[in-house]
Amino acid sequence: MSNRQVQAYFLLVIILLTVVTLTIFNYKSSKEFVQETVKKENRLLLDNFTDETNKFSNERVAELELIADYIALLKTEEDIVQFLKNQREKMPFFSSLGFITPEGEVLAGDGSRFKVNQQESFDRALQGELVFSELFPYYQDSTQLVSAVRIPVFQDGNIIGVLSGVFNMGNLVGAIASDSNLPGTLYLFRENQVIFSNSNHDFETAVPNGSQVLSQINAMGQGTIIIDENKAHYVMYQHTSGGWTFVVDSYKEKTVQQISSIFWRNTMIVVLAIIFLCSILYYLKRNEQREENMLKRDLLTNLPNRVVLEERLKKGLNPQNFKRFTLYFINLDRFKDINERNGYQLGDRVLFETSRKIQAFAGKNELYRVGGDEFVLLVPAHSEEELRTRGLELVKLMEVPIELSSTESMWVTFSVGIRKSQLGDWPDLMMQDATFAVQEAKKQGGNRFVFFSQELANQNERVRLIANNVVHALANNEFFMVYQPVYDLSTKNITSYEALLRWKSPTIGQVSPVEFIPLLEESDLIIPVGKWILRQVTAQLNRWEAEGHEDFQVAVNISVRQMMHPDFLHDVKSIIHEANISAQRLIFEITETVAVQNSELANQILTELNNLGVKTALDDFGTGYSSLSILKILPIQQLKVDRSFIVKMELEEDKSLVILQGILDIARNLGMTTVMEGVETLEQLDLLKNMGAQKIQGFLISQAVVAELAIELRKQTWLH
Ligand code: C2E
Ligand code: MG
Ligand code: MG
Repeated sequence: MSNRQVQAYFLLVIILLTVVTLTIFNYKSSKEFVQETVKKENRLLLDNFTDETNKFSNERVAELELIADYIALLKTEEDIVQFLKNQREKMPFFSSLGFITPEGEVLAGDGSRFKVNQQESFDRALQGELVFSELFPYYQDSTQLVSAVRIPVFQDGNIIGVLSGVFNMGNLVGAIASDSNLPGTLYLFRENQVIFSNSNHDFETAVPNGSQVLSQINAMGQGTIIIDENKAHYVMYQHTSGGWTFVVDSYKEKTVQQISSIFWRNTMIVVLAIIFLCSILYYLKRNEQREENMLKRDLLTNLPNRVVLEERLKKGLNPQNFKRFTLYFINLDRFKDINERNGYQLGDRVLFETSRKIQAFAGKNELYRVGGDEFVLLVPAHSEEELRTRGLELVKLMEVPIELSSTESMWVTFSVGIRKSQLGDWPDLMMQDATFAVQEAKKQGGNRFVFFSQELANQNERVRLIANNVVHALANNEFFMVYQPVYDLSTKNITSYEALLRWKSPTIGQVSPVEFIPLLEESDLIIPVGKWILRQVTAQLNRWEAEGHEDFQVAVNISVRQMMHPDFLHDVKSIIHEANISAQRLIFEITETVAVQNSELANQILTELNNLGVKTALDDFGTGYSSLSILKILPIQQLKVDRSFIVKMELEEDKSLVILQGILDIARNLGMTTVMEGVETLEQLDLLKNMGAQKIQGFLISQAVVAELAIELRKQTWLH
């Protein structure tokens, strides 16, 4: 996981935690708000009712006191009854009014007389107390529970009886309750008996553990009993002065719903936040995977890349679960040229089509694209024969040209290096060996497969050794020049020498330029070394001139890279100038690859050289494309036919003879001189003479030798 991803995840976790915390906080505070509101509303309700009841009681007491005062003035019982009857009609709150004689006889306002009930309250009133009696069924309607206010009636400081006013508190509370919008269920208790309730249910069933709750309600004051805080379910009570107890059951379906909706709303927020964050996480994860895929897959062919191959090889080569397999390293031939000549877009198309072909061939076997034009195919171990067949089939895939469009197709080939796995291998070694094999296949001309062998490894080891050492050769003065004569068959004279570079390494010994020149070219060291060669040769020419040897030329091999370098012409001019020699004494040998790279520029440079007086020769003709058209494109005065031609000529006589004859004729017609390279035997010489060859160079005349010996050769006479 990258740093950026860790940060993103961290941020998401923080956001989630914040959302959850805020929602919990919001849920709690909203719930608390509802609970507080419920408590407040119900407490207010209780207060109201208590106030009302107290007020009512006080008013009734005040009224009764007035009546009592008046009764004290009356003489007869009849007067009292009559008076009470009158008062009863004016006071609708009292169900009845009565005067109780000290003997306990009730003189009711309706004229009836009966023995006093609720003896205790009567006794206490007779003692001078103001008493609210316990409840009792109203004698005119026994379903009504009523209470009586009893106050003593004084006459001249003596109690002459008790005034009793019966009233129904339930009716009164009911009347107030019906007018108000009660937040909870109201119960009016008196001595644990419900006098009034605005609910159809009795307290014990409406409130869980009702009777237990009731017993918790104290005889005095007020209080709150929490039944279920989560549902804002409380029982609140308050006692009034007249012995009444108001109880409110706060439970309301609506409140519970409100709280649960707060809960669900907040849960929803958290769930939504989680879903939202999960989507972001999913998106990030997918992006991460895509990025990882991009790191592991090649975009053009969608094949797994080198990173994946390395992991796969590591696993496959692990000694614990080692299973033999074979690696086919596939590399397109001259892909660089395809790219440079046709552009990268077409190059990509070629790669894509090639990869499709290989993919179809690979089937279930693993295929990787490990570099620009490099593919690796892994197959389970097979016999050498099978691997060979497979290699052949693989190479044959490219026999059919690649279709680039409906009208365009291109013939592309590739080389294959085959490396079998061994116990104890490691990925880098396998890849390196396979690369050696593929390079060898390319060296052999491409469009073929080569098995990796120890010999190949040794060769490569040598290449590595040479590459490491050659970089110091110039500075360490390890280079020197030798000269090989070119002999003119008609004049029987040495008409020129070819200057050839030699390197004697103190560690490796004598190394052939065939081995080290390509390495110098790869590392661009050929530029300084090329200049050094030119200086050596021109200085030698100068010395020879001084010694009087003037009637021959010296050919210098010029690498393509060296020639294409922007400073080349300038360097050539100044070196010739410095050496104080005539440019006419120089021949520059170039290979036909110059024309392949940039024929226009090559033409310019060669023309410029010709203008200076330097002759130009096409070297190694017959090894590369061997296109005769190049002779028309470039200003070249000499054609050097490669040694391989002579070898071939001797092997498959007829065809090569005809071709060589053709080349010689064309060159002569174009006004070029020809030099046959690598003539070693008199037989070869005879053949060439018959064909009209002009000049020869080869061991038959002499090997390349140091300047002093080379000049000596001129004194000898050959081939007479
Ligand atoms: P080249 O320019 O074609 O040089 C001719 C090569 O053929 C020389 O090999 C020479 O020794 C060899 N040769 C000549 N006659 C015979 C023969 O009868 N039989 C056989 N088997 N070989 C013969 P050498 O010196 O090893 O050079 C190899 C190549 O290295 C040269 O091929 C040239 O391409 C390159 N090279 C050599 N010296 C220089 C140089 O100073 N600069 C550059 N750029 N390349 C050089
Ligand atoms: Mg040459
Ligand atoms: Mg040559």
